Amino acid sequence: SAKKQRNHYEFFRPSDAADSAERLFLESDLTAALGRGEFELYYQPQIRHGSIIGFEALLRWNHPTRGLIPPASFIPLAEQRGHILGIGNWVLVTACRQFRDMLEQGHTLEHIAVNISVSQFYQLHFVRNIHNALIESGLEPHYLQLEITESAAMKNVPYFIDTLNELHKLGIKIAIDDFGTGYSSFNYLSQFPLDALKIDRSFIWNMDKGDKHVSVVGGIILMASALQLDVVAEGVETQEQAQLLEELGCTVAQGYLYGRPLPLREAYALLGEPGQH
Ligand code: C2E
Ligand code: CA
Ligand code: CA
Ligand code: CA
Repeated sequence: SAKKQRNHYEFFRPSDAADSAERLFLESDLTAALGRGEFELYYQPQIRHGSIIGFEALLRWNHPTRGLIPPASFIPLAEQRGHILGIGNWVLVTACRQFRDMLEQGHTLEHIAVNISVSQFYQLHFVRNIHNALIESGLEPHYLQLEITESAAMKNVPYFIDTLNELHKLGIKIAIDDFGTGYSSFNYLSQFPLDALKIDRSFIWNMDKGDKHVSVVGGIILMASALQLDVVAEGVETQEQAQLLEELGCTVAQGYLYGRPLPLREAYALLGEPGQH
């Protein structure tokens, strides 16, 4: 079934697969992939009241013999081997540049969301690298929204808060990704200088199971609004979920219902002529 497939996809990690030959194979290719220009960014739309307000940039690896490889199959490996920093910087500069081009074409959009891994966040000169990506691309900082997981937050709370404050000084926006799946305490949440929460898709999917699950999502949305945070629902797949989210007051949604992650050219096609969305 579709559900089984997506679970399989979600949990597959070459790093803990029994097939270490496969891992070695990918690993040696990964070292060269950046230099060979094999990475590509796909863009998934974010929707408010039926309009595209921005995109999340999602990394893909165009492997010469294996085709398109999803990030879950190589990012953990890239993290372990220290490749994530180079790849992460490429993602940042490319996403900022391609988004600036969209704005220059006359599209009215609010932000480009870029995923930041834990090791990337804790690298030396992280803030400076972000700053450089903005300068290099010519994108105004308020257009950039970094998606950071709760595990990055909890790894070193004082450092996390300091770094977020530095990013805010530059004008960059910050969202907590996969909210609700990690171990961040509500106690900390009010201390983090954040702009948005992305409700993890597991909560969105659970809404189909009944009222209690709907109430949980409603609770997250209320809390976010009390903290004056924007809320993005991720993994929205059905009209029913979209309807419920709207009733609960969640204004921004992302998911297959609105559009899958698309290559740049198709993201442009989705936008249509400037002024249409
Ligand atoms: P994520 O940040 O939670 O990204 C959302 C994932 O959910 C994406 O998978 C997206 O394709 C998928 N998705 C979106 N809407 C739906 C839906 O309606 N139904 C279902 N079943 N799935 C949906 P993807 O692109 O395979 O990315 C997986 C993860 O890899 C991301 O999860 C993120 O943690 C990581 N990732 C992706 N790109 C980057 C990157 O540039 N840098 C870093 N560090 N991590 C990345
Ligand atoms: Ca994300
Ligand atoms: Ca997410
Ligand atoms: Ca995730």
